[in-house]
Amino acid sequence: MEPPIHRYAIALGSNRRHGRHGSPARVIAAALAALAAAGVEVAAISPTIHTAALGPAGRGFANAAAIVRTPLDPPALLALLKRTERAFGRRRGRRWGPRVLDLDIILWSGGRWPPGQRRARPGALAVPHAAFAGRGFVVRPLAAVAPAWRVAGGHTVAQIKARLDRRKRMDARARPAL
Ligand code: ATP
Ligand code: CA
Ligand code: CA
Repeated sequence: MEPPIHRYAIALGSNRRHGRHGSPARVIAAALAALAAAGVEVAAISPTIHTAALGPAGRGFANAAAIVRTPLDPPALLALLKRTERAFGRRRGRRWGPRVLDLDIILWSGGRWPPGQRRARPGALAVPHAAFAGRGFVVRPLAAVAPAWRVAGGHTVAQIKARLDRRKRMDARARPAL
């Protein structure tokens, strides 16, 4: 019997040039090509968005989201994503510092990982990604490729984006005029 094919939403980020591939946006395109070369079917790619840096990184990020299809389960896909990060020269370092490539699993067609009611151990793989719904730089590209995806039985990606957009508008109104 053929193994089941899972569907994943992954987030891609880069805020550092790569010696051969070039700008962060090109790093993201090259990372998707590397995943395809490793046998992952890349079914949809969002536009790449550019975000000003938060924290000590000191430069802007390029971010995108992709829908991929593969028989790999979440730990096996995460291992491939980490190998790909390393192949692009990512080194261990400050979490929010400059880095050439960050690949996160945001959603998968199996619902939650780990399966069942168990909570992931701190630091262990958790799907849906624990922080994605509060991050515009993840949700906005994701909404371009998977607006109707319902997140673990709750809201759709489009609803999560609408909530973030509302919050952003309210924050802008609350800010005093200078
Ligand atoms: P954040 O997870 O807040 O976006 P980060 O991407 O900067 O932070 P990393 O240093 O890349 O963090 O990864 C820290 C660890 O997070 C990884 O070793 C990985 O095992 C774990 N992790 C847990 N859930 C996920 C997930 N859904 N996708 C990718 N990594 C995850
Ligand atoms: Ca991340
Ligand atoms: Ca990561």
